[in-house]
Amino acid sequence: MEKKSIYGLTLDQLTSWLIEHGQKKFRAAQVWDWLYKKRVTDFSQMKNLNSDCIELLEEHFFIQTLKQEIKQESEDGTIKFLFKLQDGNLIETVLMRFNYGLSVCVTTQVGCNIGCTFCASGLLKKNRDLTSGEIVEQIMNVQHHLDEAGKDERVSHIVVMGIGEPFDNYDNMMDFFRVVNDQKGLSIGARHITVSTSGLANKIYDFADENIQINLAVSLHAPNNELRTRIMKINKAYPLEKLMPAIDYYLEKTNRRITFEYILLKDVNDHKEEAIQLAKLLKNKRHLSYVNLIPYNPVDEHNQYQRSTKESILKFYETLMNHGINCGVRVEQGTDIDAACGQLRSKQIKKDKVRS
Ligand code: SAH
Ligand code: SF4
Repeated sequence: MEKKSIYGLTLDQLTSWLIEHGQKKFRAAQVWDWLYKKRVTDFSQMKNLNSDCIELLEEHFFIQTLKQEIKQESEDGTIKFLFKLQDGNLIETVLMRFNYGLSVCVTTQVGCNIGCTFCASGLLKKNRDLTSGEIVEQIMNVQHHLDEAGKDERVSHIVVMGIGEPFDNYDNMMDFFRVVNDQKGLSIGARHITVSTSGLANKIYDFADENIQINLAVSLHAPNNELRTRIMKINKAYPLEKLMPAIDYYLEKTNRRITFEYILLKDVNDHKEEAIQLAKLLKNKRHLSYVNLIPYNPVDEHNQYQRSTKESILKFYETLMNHGINCGVRVEQGTDIDAACGQLRSKQIKKDKVRS
């Protein structure tokens, strides 16, 4: 029998598991409290459990499976963690400080198969999905780091924008949300959680039907199929005529605002023409749309792309605004520590290859 991370269980799953293994129902609430409120890292620290229960848990579960390999702190307070999974794979997690709270960016897969032509994560094919436990554990590791610093700080926001395509690991992603959202545990509000997808239309329908308040962001990056397919291969499987109806369904069902992410790539998708096309594409849903313009973070291996100039970013922004589209330019965090999606990991893997 293989031991698993206890963070992978929702409270309901933990309760059923304990009852199936001969424990009383109330034990689940106690274990949950030790994990997420008192945040111990060893079952033996769970003082109000009897030794049978502790042994049972130790026999079947781990609390810590990730090993911290690197922790880089940026001048603006952003911290980037590189973790080694039990099977040796490396993943990244980033803590960002905003005036509204502390936000953690989590990874959902080892590598990514979507293969966007500008992204460092897509350089390495997907090796496997992360388990829900491994996704929760990223939050817990960051929270343990904050607990140790003793300033009484809490992770208040989550963005699912690290390595991987979360909608390609849908069930584990949903279990992860149930754990971190649980009011008896970390209690991170659904409205404080944002998941970003490259546009897996079929999963956007499923997500719309979940009846939860989690925010959705869609990586659009281009306003027409020709350009979008050039930038993101996924547009072949889910072109705009499949993606936009899925988005309309989501908006109709949830009445929640969607964020459209748009990376500005110099002379590729940053002309006035594309800004006008984008405004047209979003016209009928502009009351529920927000466009997040993202300055491109250059990736060594993708040297065909450069960051747009400040002037083009401003012009693009103004064109959208003049057409009545809500938008903003993303404030960058931690660029001095490779905080963009997948960059630290791909650099570390390259170093490891050179060493071995
Ligand atoms: N796979 C999902 C979520 C992870 S990527 C998705 O693609 O939406 C999160 C965001 O970071 C996406 O909008 C992605 O396009 C953007 N991103 C990836 N590489 C980047 C880079 N080098 N510079 C700026 N943004 C980048
Ligand atoms: Fe995967 Fe997102 Fe990177 Fe595209 S941008 S390769 S979907 S992680």
